[in-house]
Amino acid sequence: MVEDPSAKRTPSTGKRLLRHLPGLFFREEIRSYLRGGGVLDAYPEIARRKIMPRDIERRVLSAFEGKPICRKTSCGVAYAHGTVEYNGHFGIRGICNVCPADQVARCAGSDRTPSAEAVLELARTVSLDPGRIDIDERRIEVEGSTEQQRYFIEHSLNYQVHDRRHPHLPNRHGRAEIGWS
Ligand SMILES: [Zn+2]
Repeated sequence: MVEDPSAKRTPSTGKRLLRHLPGLFFREEIRSYLRGGGVLDAYPEIARRKIMPRDIERRVLSAFEGKPICRKTSCGVAYAHGTVEYNGHFGIRGICNVCPADQVARCAGSDRTPSAEAVLELARTVSLDPGRIDIDERRIEVEGSTEQQRYFIEHSLNYQVHDRRHPHLPNRHGRAEIGWS
């Protein structure tokens, strides 16, 4: 399923049109809901992350070549509002190479690795083990975290926060394995 938010125009500009292709969140609740409506399973299994198989992504990207498109919802939201993307996807590389050039420039201008002090202070605020934190030029890695703890740090810093239990593989950031193995 490819969401098409092009109908949602921002009140401020009224004219930024954009597609994004984040994939289908095919979790148990969504599968049950769809089954309840008589919809056949789109995939044989559920997944923790969104499903966007390689072949479908390739087809969407070629169909929208030359038009604004983003892989991530947050990139699309940032583009529509003319702000820096808040999840720090730019730092991961390979995600934002399809984002509109002016959006890439905006995110590049504010992309910087946060200091250990800043990360530790936020980690302490959400009671994460400060001894299990690793910071590099792409992401912050923590351990034993919940989504809420990670998002608090991520959105405070505009920088990706991952848990060691759920590593993100190169070029498969935030994707389910379905359609990529
Ligand atoms: Zn982006």
